[in-house]
Amino acid sequence: MDTTVKAYLDRYQVSQATLDFLDRQPRMFIGGDWVASSDGAVSESIEPSTGGVLALIPEGTAEDLDRAVAAARHQFDEGAWSRLKPLERERLLHRLADLLEANADQLAEIESIDMGKSVAQARDVDIQGTIDTFRYFAGWASKIQGRSAEPASLPGSYVAYTRKEAVGVVGSIIPWNFPLQTMAWKLGAALAVGCTVVVKPAELTSLSTLRFAELVQEAGIPDGVVNIVTGRGSVIGAAMSCHSGIDKITFTGSTPVGQTVGRAALDDMKRVTLELGGKSPVLVFDDVDIEATAEAVAQGIFFNSGQVCDAGSRLYVHESIYDRFLEALADYARGLKVAPGLDPDCFISPMVSAKQQDSVLGYIEAGKQEGARLVCGGQAPEGPGFFVEPTLFADCRNDMKIVQEEIFGPVLVSQAFGSEAEAVALANDSIYGLAAAIYSNDLNRVHRLIPQLKAGSVYVNAHSTIDPAMPFGGYKQSGVGRDLGPEQLDSLLETKSVWITLG
Ligand code: NAD
Repeated sequence: MDTTVKAYLDRYQVSQATLDFLDRQPRMFIGGDWVASSDGAVSESIEPSTGGVLALIPEGTAEDLDRAVAAARHQFDEGAWSRLKPLERERLLHRLADLLEANADQLAEIESIDMGKSVAQARDVDIQGTIDTFRYFAGWASKIQGRSAEPASLPGSYVAYTRKEAVGVVGSIIPWNFPLQTMAWKLGAALAVGCTVVVKPAELTSLSTLRFAELVQEAGIPDGVVNIVTGRGSVIGAAMSCHSGIDKITFTGSTPVGQTVGRAALDDMKRVTLELGGKSPVLVFDDVDIEATAEAVAQGIFFNSGQVCDAGSRLYVHESIYDRFLEALADYARGLKVAPGLDPDCFISPMVSAKQQDSVLGYIEAGKQEGARLVCGGQAPEGPGFFVEPTLFADCRNDMKIVQEEIFGPVLVSQAFGSEAEAVALANDSIYGLAAAIYSNDLNRVHRLIPQLKAGSVYVNAHSTIDPAMPFGGYKQSGVGRDLGPEQLDSLLETKSVWITLG
């Protein structure tokens, strides 16, 4: 860790537990062993509020991945996890959730320092969501059942039933915006049904996943059930996508990379879940409380500095309140505190990397060039760190780049609509279909609109209401399949039909 990062951690009095963790040289977790990369390579992990070097992360190799897959394969085939009594798996997953809870403050600090995000948001959302996801799926371990069936047409007598069998070794590829929580979305269900896993965290944010692995070990989950291989997407992620020892790939990340992963995985017909990008529309009608709705809409885009897959990033407001609404929204946005992630009052934290900051600022420039009207923000504040002010554009058109492409930063684009039909047409005019939001108190209108919106989640009068009991995933190019909820379980289970012919 360099001196700028050290000074930053001192300024915000980071806990001794976190400092001790950061003092340990990060190691991958393979078959229960803590190991360096087989060729000794490391990459720098940069702290986003200072731009300083935080840690050196092992850059795993294809050979490291082979060992991780072999460990997961062995544990799956030998049954140390897959054939464990479901209540025992359930107990171990609850124990893991207990340990996550006991270490929640430290995990929030690590997530904040590594990714840059607000430590308060990390504690309340990322870490709480991680704990809740493991608890929710722990309960499913003992409730996986097939069904008995009566053949509908076949003559003769049979006993016919289905068995649900864990799919096998699962490869999980994770993005950097919610590192631990996204990993929990992949692992909770997979471990509950008896799969073993190999996880590849994003190269920018591997640390919380490595701390998580320590807790997996402490919980008593057998070695080899969970394996963590850090490193580059183009090396480890690409090798995972076509690895013959992996039965299922579950990927969260951008649409272009997801397409590559999906194509590679289908070569040997791996099962695939893809949670991809979004450009989620927000429809605001003229019957809302303007101040309260402006605040909700601002939270829906600016939370995690807009680095959220289902962020409400395209705003459509009824023309009769458009100007007043934008004024209220801009006032609220200007009041959000732009600060380092460890500042307890920070709302707008830095972008995860200099590259991401450049990309977001590039989109802001493109918006100006295309003729959108900048209402507030638009700048990178002076000083260190990869910050971008909360930014609002008005008078956009749907053919603009800033309206069609995922910016993945604190940038909201807006335009007015006249009729309900126009609002729906604008909302659906996107390659993405992850989420949509409706703000209105007219129940008839809301229920009329819900079926018309092409989106995996529709939020009414709020944004990103996410819970482990409800499935999450995309229509169109926002993905394939669903994480969370009972719906996720089937994507990790094969269904075997058993026929016993009698007499
Ligand atoms: P990304 O696609 O660049 O990377 C995601 C993961 O894929 C990383 O671990 C990366 O190392 C790996 N990867 C990169 N190249 C690879 C390759 N060739 N083969 C296999 N793996 C490879 O995405 P990101 O920048 O980390 O995350 C931001 C994106 O994730 C946004 O598009 C966002 O919308 C999306 N996202 C979606 C959801 C969802 O649930 N739908 C949730 C969070 C983020």
